[in-house]
Amino acid sequence: MSTDKETKIEICCLLENSERCKRVSGNASFNFRVQKLVEQRKLKFSLDQNARHRYICDFHKNIIKKARNKRKRKDSDEENESPEVELSQLQIATLRRYKRYYRIPTRPGMSKSQLIESISKHFKGISVPEKETITYFIYMVKTQRSKFDQHPIDAA
Ligand SMILES: [Zn+2]
Repeated sequence: MSTDKETKIEICCLLENSERCKRVSGNASFNFRVQKLVEQRKLKFSLDQNARHRYICDFHKNIIKKARNKRKRKDSDEENESPEVELSQLQIATLRRYKRYYRIPTRPGMSKSQLIESISKHFKGISVPEKETITYFIYMVKTQRSKFDQHPIDAA
């Protein structure tokens, strides 16, 4: 019976700049898929050939996770050019305000989903001058004002 080697705290199996990582390993392992990702991303660490296990520390796990997310995000950006805005996350009062502001023709007594439908059509059609909008937005936040509240378009 000699289990003392297994119960001993294991150290991350990775080499960074040819030096063995000194952090304690967690339950994430350096499998083939991770290894491939590390090579693709040209991350500066590799498996220590002397390591008796393939478990990695949380620090390295997070780096790998980040690298993986980066790739995912880039792929989806290429798929759809405009970012998707979840209008359904907005409150119905907000949607109505949007509708009023842009004078979007709607039938009375529309349900939320119908409202979202006509608003999203309009929303996708508007072009935004990025620089002015951001500048204006920051100004509004700093002064804690809202144009909508100060000049109601129509007080319904
Ligand atoms: Zn490590």
